[in-house]
Amino acid sequence: MLAGLGGSAAMLSMTQLAAGQAPARRARTAPHVKAAENLMDDRYKSKSGHRFGSQVIHHGEMTGFDVTPISQDKASPGYQRPGNMSNPTVAPLLKKMMEIEGAESAVGAPCGMGAISQTYLALLKPGDRLVTHRCNYDWVMTLFGQYLRSLGMEVEFLDFSKPEKLAASLKAKPAKIVHWEPYVNPTMEVLDSPALIAIARKAGAIVVLDNTWLTPYLFQPARLGADLVIHSVTKYVGGHGNAMGGVVSGGKDLVAKIGRAQSWLGGVMRPMDAFLITQGIKTLPIRMRQHCRSAQQVAEFLESHPAVARVRYGGLPGWNRLDFLKGFGGMIGVEWKNASVFKQFGRHVKLIINKTSLGDPVTRINSRRPEKNRGIPANYTRVSIGLEEPEDIIADFKQAIAKCR
Ligand code: PLP
Repeated sequence: MLAGLGGSAAMLSMTQLAAGQAPARRARTAPHVKAAENLMDDRYKSKSGHRFGSQVIHHGEMTGFDVTPISQDKASPGYQRPGNMSNPTVAPLLKKMMEIEGAESAVGAPCGMGAISQTYLALLKPGDRLVTHRCNYDWVMTLFGQYLRSLGMEVEFLDFSKPEKLAASLKAKPAKIVHWEPYVNPTMEVLDSPALIAIARKAGAIVVLDNTWLTPYLFQPARLGADLVIHSVTKYVGGHGNAMGGVVSGGKDLVAKIGRAQSWLGGVMRPMDAFLITQGIKTLPIRMRQHCRSAQQVAEFLESHPAVARVRYGGLPGWNRLDFLKGFGGMIGVEWKNASVFKQFGRHVKLIINKTSLGDPVTRINSRRPEKNRGIPANYTRVSIGLEEPEDIIADFKQAIAKCR
């Protein structure tokens, strides 16, 4: 077979050559292979000149290695606390995160919640004010609404889908920090993050975004002015459901404060987890493109299903009205017409896994209780679309819904 040609194209060329004809020009390409759609946030700028997908593979690896080895040594070449940039296995992951988020500095944590709680315990003191969206990841709601308040910090929950509410609140009383998730867990609201960042910065607040769901491939908040970007790298960045970690990246001074707090809080990222997540991040752009494509296909199928009242997905024109993103990742919300389908269909799924978490190769579902103050409706299921073939995910939804009485 001729190098670089698909089977039928190669056969055609051989026949033409045997007949003494010059091969037709179009036979030199494989017309059935389309270029993969680029959904990357164009704000990304590489320091090396290589593109995002090359940087996640090459950037930050230990000199002389394509795959940096695992060093579990607690003290050499430097003690793993604070900040743990001195561990040879953790450092490549932090360097890759700094590179792709466009940040000066980064610090690791044992999981996303570790990163978030250490950030707030390091930066806030009693009397400081935090303003946040009315809905964030569940344990972030607990941290903000219960623990930070019990330590004497003021926390205000607002509806950030109306950015003017944030502007009015900060005008009435300045805040030290403003925090939100650009694509909200679990309500799937796509918040107008460029507008919110501008408002919070103008008011002099430290701007913190949890970019776990979109990842730096789809959204680049630091390049719009966010001071700190937090990730549960347990999710899409690691992408294989086999390790846990958290990363906070941003300016040197703020990140150093969080790093120093690790000396007394103790939540460092472990080298074995960092190793696995580093292998995962190397395929982040390819996986995110597939998550986006499959989620779009499944969302459109569910939207047309008679058992469904509404589908919440950033890629559906009826749901999202913002255009600062080209892709929305793998998270979908389903509002069922009927409580019986909502309650029963999780028992009937075969391929899909009815257990919480997200951002893995497997598709997962998670039923939610309604919470009016957070905007979580009744009969609502959060879906994390995995990397299985979308036709199989759709077929599993179809058969599971058909079994509900
Ligand atoms: N942030 C978001 C947006 C999440 O969805 C989650 C978990 O689902 C977390 C943070 C917490 O991450 P971890 O499970 O790594 O602690």
